[in-house]
Amino acid sequence: MELPFAEPYRIKVVEPLRKSTRAEREDWIIKAQYNLFNLRSDQVFIDLLTDSGTGAMSHLQWAEIMQGDESYAGSLSYFKLRDTINTLLGMPYFLPTHQGRAAENVLFSAMIKAGDIVPGNAHFDTTKGHIEFRNAVAVDCTIEEAQDTTLIHPFKGNLDLEKLEKVLSTNPKEKIPLCLITVTCNTSGGQPVSMENIREVSALCRRYRIPVFFDAARFAENAYFIKVREKGYEHKSIREIVLEMFSYVDGATMSSKKDAIVNIGGFIAMRDKALFDKASTFNIMFEGYLTYGGLAGRDLGALAQGLMEGTEFEYLEARIGQVAFLGKKLTEYGIPIQQPTGGHAVFVDAKKFLSHIPKEELQAQTLAVELYLEGGVRSVEIGTLLADRDPVTRENRYPALELLRLAIPRRAYTNNHMDYVAACLKNIWDRRDSIRKGYRIVSEAPIMRHFTLALEKA
Ligand SMILES: *Cc1c(COP(=O)(O)O)cnc(C)c1O
Repeated sequence: MELPFAEPYRIKVVEPLRKSTRAEREDWIIKAQYNLFNLRSDQVFIDLLTDSGTGAMSHLQWAEIMQGDESYAGSLSYFKLRDTINTLLGMPYFLPTHQGRAAENVLFSAMIKAGDIVPGNAHFDTTKGHIEFRNAVAVDCTIEEAQDTTLIHPFKGNLDLEKLEKVLSTNPKEKIPLCLITVTCNTSGGQPVSMENIREVSALCRRYRIPVFFDAARFAENAYFIKVREKGYEHKSIREIVLEMFSYVDGATMSSKKDAIVNIGGFIAMRDKALFDKASTFNIMFEGYLTYGGLAGRDLGALAQGLMEGTEFEYLEARIGQVAFLGKKLTEYGIPIQQPTGGHAVFVDAKKFLSHIPKEELQAQTLAVELYLEGGVRSVEIGTLLADRDPVTRENRYPALELLRLAIPRRAYTNNHMDYVAACLKNIWDRRDSIRKGYRIVSEAPIMRHFTLALEKA
C-alpha cells in the first residue's frame, strides 16, 4: 500500500478555540456591522481571514526569540538576517521594516512621484494604496486567463507581455519608476508566476531600462509551483529556484508575515547601493535605525530562521497540499472555486455561487457573512469592497472576479479543520437560493475602505 501523506512536523503547543452558537454569531455580526474585520477573535472558530502573521513558529524560531540581540545598532540578529538574505536571495543590500506595507512606504518614497505609472500583475491592496496615495497609477498587466476561474492554467499570475510593452512603449521612461511582479499573485487567486515569465518581463523591462521588483511575500510558494509545474525545474531545489527568480530582479519588498512564517516583520532587498542609500533615510524616518527597522532584535532572528524553514520542500509540500486538500473537497461538493488552487488560499467564485444576487449587493461579502453565520468561519472578500473606488471618478470599481478568500495560516490548522470549513460551505451551497439579499455600504474611508467600512442589509 502506498503510504499516505503526513505533515513533516508534530505539535508542541496548542491553543484552545471557542465554539459559539448561531444565535451568538447573529448578534455579533450585527454589532460588527457585517464587517468581519470588526469581530473579536474569540467570536471566530476557524480564522481564515488571512495567512498574514497567523502562522505557527517552530521551536527553532522561538529559540531565536530567546537569543534576540536588542542592541539599538549593530544587533547580531540583524547580521544573521542580512547573511540569510544575501545567501538565499542573492541580494547585497537590505533594510528591515516592521511589515510589508512599511517596505512599500519606504521604497516608494524613494522611487515613486506623482503622475508615475507602475505596471505589474494585479497589485496587492496596500501596494496599490501606497501607489495611489502618491497620486501615481498602478496598471494591471495580468494575463486574461486569470479572469476565468474555471480555466486550468499553471501560471495564472503571469504578466501579459503585450500589455506590459504597451505601457512601456507609450509612456516616457521617467514616468515608470519600476515594474512590480507579485509572487505569488494574491489578487488573482494566489496564482504563481512562471520562471519563463519572470525572465521575459525582466528582459523586456531591461530593454526599456525600467527596474523590476518583486512583491515577494509568497516567493517560496511561487518557487514550489515552479518546481512542480515548470519544465526543467523538477530536479532543482526550492532554494536554487529562489536564487534564480531573484537573479532577474533589481530588488523586492517583503511581507515576512507570509512565507517567512513570522508574526510580524518585513524588509526591502536591493542590488543598487545608490537606491539603498536613498531608501535608508526614509527607513530611519519611518521605521527605525537601519539595523532594526521597526522590529525587535528577536523578530529579526525569528525571521532569518523562518526564511530557511519556509524554503524547505517538505514544508511547502505540506502547506500547499493542505490548500489543495480544501480546494478538492469544495470541488467535489460542486462549489465553484478558482482553478487550480493557489498557494496560500482557496478562492470561492462568489459571482457564480450567488449569481442571483446583483453585484451592487456585494456577492462575495454576502457569502463571507453567510459562512461566518453557518459555522463561525472567518474569510475575506476579494471583490468590490477591496477593489475600492476609482481614485479619479470615485465610482465603485466592479472587478471581473468576485472572490471569497479562504486563506490558510501556515502550520496552524489540521485537515479536520479544512473538512469543517468545506462542510459549512456545502450547507450554504445547498440552500443558496434562499439567500435573497446582499449588503450595501453605510460608511467607508477614502482609501483601503474594506478594513473599516460599515454595512447594512440591502
Ligand atoms: C501582505 C502583503 C503585503 C503587505 O504586507 P503587510 O505585511 O501586510 O504590511 C504586500 N504585498 C503582498 C503580496 C502581500 O501579500
